Amino acid sequence: MIISEYCFQNNVLICELLRHRITSDTKEPEIMWDFRTEPEFQVKLDWIDRFVREECEPIDLLFPHLGQPYNTENKAARAIIAPLQEQVKAQGLWACHLGPELGGQGYGQLKLALMNEILGRSMWAPTIFGTAAPDTGNAEILAMFGTDEQKSKYLRPLLDGDIVSCFSMTEPQAGADPKEFVCAARKDGDDWIISGEKWFSSNARYAEFLIVMAVTDPDASPYRRMSMFVVPAETPGIEILRNVCVMPDREELDEGTHAYIRYNDVRVPADAILGGPGQGFEVAQARLGGGRVHHAMRTVGKCQRAFDMMGERVLSRRTQGELLADKQMVQQFIADSWIELQQFRLLVLQTAWIIDNEPHGAARTNIAMCKVAMAKVLHDIIQRAIQIHGSLGVTTETPLYDWWTSVPSLALADGPTEVHKATVAKRVLKNYTPSEGLFPTEHIPTRRAAARERYADILKEYGVA
Ligand SMILES: Cc1cc2nc3c(=O)[nH]c(=O)nc-3n(C[C@H](O)[C@H](O)[C@H](O)COP(=O)(O)OP(=O)(O)OC[C@H]3O[C@@H](n4cnc5c(N)ncnc54)[C@H](O)[C@@H]3O)c2cc1C
Repeated sequence: MIISEYCFQNNVLICELLRHRITSDTKEPEIMWDFRTEPEFQVKLDWIDRFVREECEPIDLLFPHLGQPYNTENKAARAIIAPLQEQVKAQGLWACHLGPELGGQGYGQLKLALMNEILGRSMWAPTIFGTAAPDTGNAEILAMFGTDEQKSKYLRPLLDGDIVSCFSMTEPQAGADPKEFVCAARKDGDDWIISGEKWFSSNARYAEFLIVMAVTDPDASPYRRMSMFVVPAETPGIEILRNVCVMPDREELDEGTHAYIRYNDVRVPADAILGGPGQGFEVAQARLGGGRVHHAMRTVGKCQRAFDMMGERVLSRRTQGELLADKQMVQQFIADSWIELQQFRLLVLQTAWIIDNEPHGAARTNIAMCKVAMAKVLHDIIQRAIQIHGSLGVTTETPLYDWWTSVPSLALADGPTEVHKATVAKRVLKNYTPSEGLFPTEHIPTRRAAARERYADILKEYGVA
């Protein structure tokens, strides 16, 4: 079964959620969310679906290592993808995460979600469509906070797909909590001098420039201590200590793409700062929200592809004279996976809808929910898909191996699951207040006593004890 078959009927997205709220003032129904796909956009989704399956997925097989989509020196890969990128541009589907002023379509997050879930099927597809992380997030913050000069020097070629970039924030002694960062930039005349180490700076080895977060005012409040700098990769003093591998890539094959970097008194001019001094945290927050939800959108597609594999397998493989699909425990795998996938997909679409329609920041809880859910749902569906495929499932002969090994990274990159769970809990709990008395407000004896008191006359009249 393919996405376009199960998702869409008569060009209308079937997962259309309508919820009406009667407001106390007007008694008019207020639509809280409503997402559907216009027929013209469905045509584009159908084109993307076919293109990703037929044109992008084969490239995953030719160049399977995680860093390769970012290696602009891989001439063979570039020769193959360049005409494909032209086709995407000709369809008006290049860099769709961007507004029209930056060369994108300004589709908004909901349409992007529908696109990204198809792109999520293929490792190379985001590069071929100009929407690969971390370049998307870096482009967004350059667009939001960059000077005209920074935009023309870095943003334009990044948007054109001519160069790749790196976001250098995490430090070896501190990742999940930026308040622990120590890599610093000090003023020297008009220049800044950056000193310290960064860990897991993805794609630094291929990047034309790095966006580096550094402490500029150690005594300021935790959210004003840091600034962001745009640093050309050739700047003297940038030392890549190691290109760290994540599973399943291999160190001995030089496949690592997450740089452990030392900044040895790296001198940059005053205008290298992105945003203002002390704005580093704000800039980082601006990029990470979008990045998380885009990963979630793509994860929907990966889950769907794993589910498709399960569906085909259980209808093909026989045991004890019947299909795997006839076994109840296998049916449970199918049902659980489908339910989890649909719940997750709706959460992602709702989040995209909120970003498009509600004030800035309204989707924060939802984004954290997506971040938590994506690693869990992907884990559970792929685990079942592997089990359903038996010994074949644990080989390197299906894509399940790569997807399985990607799960732990998904639960860490852009912040660990636990931190996002804490965000969800704290934000949700803001809607609650402590109970007034000794017992909870739902305490049955207390509520029953109140109900008895309220209807005491009637109860007495009818002799109810
Ligand atoms: C594939 C991948 C790509 C990445 N790319 C980049 C990049 O391009 N640029 C960049 O700067 N960084 C990047 N990172 C780093 C990423 O942002 C960090 O891994 C992440 O922020 C967690 O930091 P850490 O790894 O140091 O874990 P730690 O901060 O050491 O946390 C370890 C564990 O401690 C627990 N923990 C931590 N904090 C809390 C808390 N508040 N509450 C409860 N438990 C907690 C969690 O279990 C967590 O997993 C990438 C990471 C991965 C895996």
